[in-house]
Amino acid sequence: MAFTGVYQGIDGAHSKLVLDSFFKTKGEAAKTSGASTFRQVAIDVLNAKADVGVLPIDNAIAGTVREGYDLLAEYELVPIAEVDWRMDQRLLGVQGALVEDIREVEGHPLILEECGRFLGTLAGVRVIPVEDTGVAARDVARAGDKTHAAIGPPEAGKIYGLAELAANIADHPENYTRFIIFAAPNAREEVLRLGGATPEHRKTSILLSTLHEAGSLARCMDILAEAKINLSKLESKPKLGKAWEYLFYLDFEGDVREPRVADAIAKLQAYTQTLHVVGSYDTHNATQQGIRDDAPPTINIDRTSSSNGWNPELMPASAKHWPKAARTAHPAGSHIRVGPVVVGDGEFVIVGGPCAVESRDQVIETAKAVHDAGAVMLRGGVFKPRSNPYSFQGMGWEGAEYLAEAGRVTGMPTISEVMSIDQVEGMARYIDVLQIGARNMQNFDLLKAVGRVNNPILLKRGMSASIEEWIAAAEYILAEGNPNVILCERGIRTFETSTRNTLDLSAVPVIRERTHLPIMIDPSHGVGVRRWVRPLCRAAKALGAHGLLIEVHPNPAEAKCDGDQSLTFADFRTIMRDLSMIPTGDELERVPAAAE
Ligand code: PEP
Ligand code: MN
Repeated sequence: MAFTGVYQGIDGAHSKLVLDSFFKTKGEAAKTSGASTFRQVAIDVLNAKADVGVLPIDNAIAGTVREGYDLLAEYELVPIAEVDWRMDQRLLGVQGALVEDIREVEGHPLILEECGRFLGTLAGVRVIPVEDTGVAARDVARAGDKTHAAIGPPEAGKIYGLAELAANIADHPENYTRFIIFAAPNAREEVLRLGGATPEHRKTSILLSTLHEAGSLARCMDILAEAKINLSKLESKPKLGKAWEYLFYLDFEGDVREPRVADAIAKLQAYTQTLHVVGSYDTHNATQQGIRDDAPPTINIDRTSSSNGWNPELMPASAKHWPKAARTAHPAGSHIRVGPVVVGDGEFVIVGGPCAVESRDQVIETAKAVHDAGAVMLRGGVFKPRSNPYSFQGMGWEGAEYLAEAGRVTGMPTISEVMSIDQVEGMARYIDVLQIGARNMQNFDLLKAVGRVNNPILLKRGMSASIEEWIAAAEYILAEGNPNVILCERGIRTFETSTRNTLDLSAVPVIRERTHLPIMIDPSHGVGVRRWVRPLCRAAKALGAHGLLIEVHPNPAEAKCDGDQSLTFADFRTIMRDLSMIPTGDELERVPAAAE
């Protein structure tokens, strides 16, 4: 006999995709239909209008969906399975619309929250919460107006004949929502059997509020730990109607039918004011919607204008190998926040500091000088990749402490290189931006390791790396889940010997067209000669780079490394003055072309 299921929304909603996919993986025929609200979904199941319902309970970006958990608790519904669903959010508009035409975006409130950063890049756009993703897409299709867009999965675009204006627009690509498939307390055996995995593949959700006594929450955690219960979620939300009292949402591995779990729950009673066991459910059959390889290419942009400097038709065929780095993944360009500084949003960001931290005084003195002159971030190597093993290798962890201190003293975020995987975790605690040096651009294990920290990464171009190889290296970091990658051109090896390297300024327009990642220029390593750093700084700004990384030393003649290219404080001030007179590449691009 076919099952029936209810979801919130109309065709095109993520919940419908989840429910259909759940039945499909179970190999069961089912008829699914929509209800207007989350509450109605719960009520329809309770009143046997449908065998099962689906509700979201948790999102990887926005956190607990309070209403989902609370409805399950309120109506004492029986959770039977969890579905961990990748939320593939796209900007959907009418055929022929362009991202820059959009003035209104409709979306489900949870989804608007997931896509906050992208929406923030759409200047002057009104964001309108609507009850459901399907409704948002249908509204846009009905209005037939090029200034309206909706956020939803590609399926919603197909159903309502909409074009995809931008892909991967959630704040993070690893955007999953956990949905619970649930039944009524008196559901038929066959319905409950849709869950039914062995205990090791089950999870339990509970809601509790602790006693107003010191240590109650800690005691609850101890009880779970003593029972060897593995907690997968703990989040608190204010209790409705009781300001500043909190309800804790907990999920853990295991089933309430297991004695150790039942026992632990019984013990929790002693430390809780309220305790509600939502129930245990199957996780094993979670339907994972994989990352789609076919991601964007239907982005619709104005092909007659180069206002944001790119055109998907110009993307090389190889762009499919780096879907996350490609411009099409984030047409508006990435804005990377480092404390008070944002790289990529039109500000020209100056990073100054010594090649290497040599002493506490040296780095603090340099930090103050570059900060006074207008730098907004501080660089300084503490683990130095030197060509010769007998050259100064950097101060190591002691240097990291001094660099962090100099950053705090001047209020500037810090950048420093990591050379090996074992330095990553520690440096991530001291330093704001981790640099991958030219020599390590293709150290793939190191790239993966920095892909797993939360700090932004400055990825230097390898000295003999093509632009394609460099973008592919950035993709390694992005693919591990770290979206904050800044590229840095620092010169490549050519036959030219007059300069230390050949600073490839042409990389800037190429990178800006092909990727959404900000690009900075390091003229110090690029040219290697102090007096030639100044003109290259000017060029970088006019060219459209997002900032500069410049080596500065209190006394370059005494520098332990790269003295020949290090600027004096006076040189640095001169350059800062030069730069104040030069518009950015973005500003220059906005000047209309002269009539022929
Ligand atoms: C540096 O920034 O000091 C450095 C060693 O850079 P690169 O990796 O570009 O040589
Ligand atoms: Mn250097």
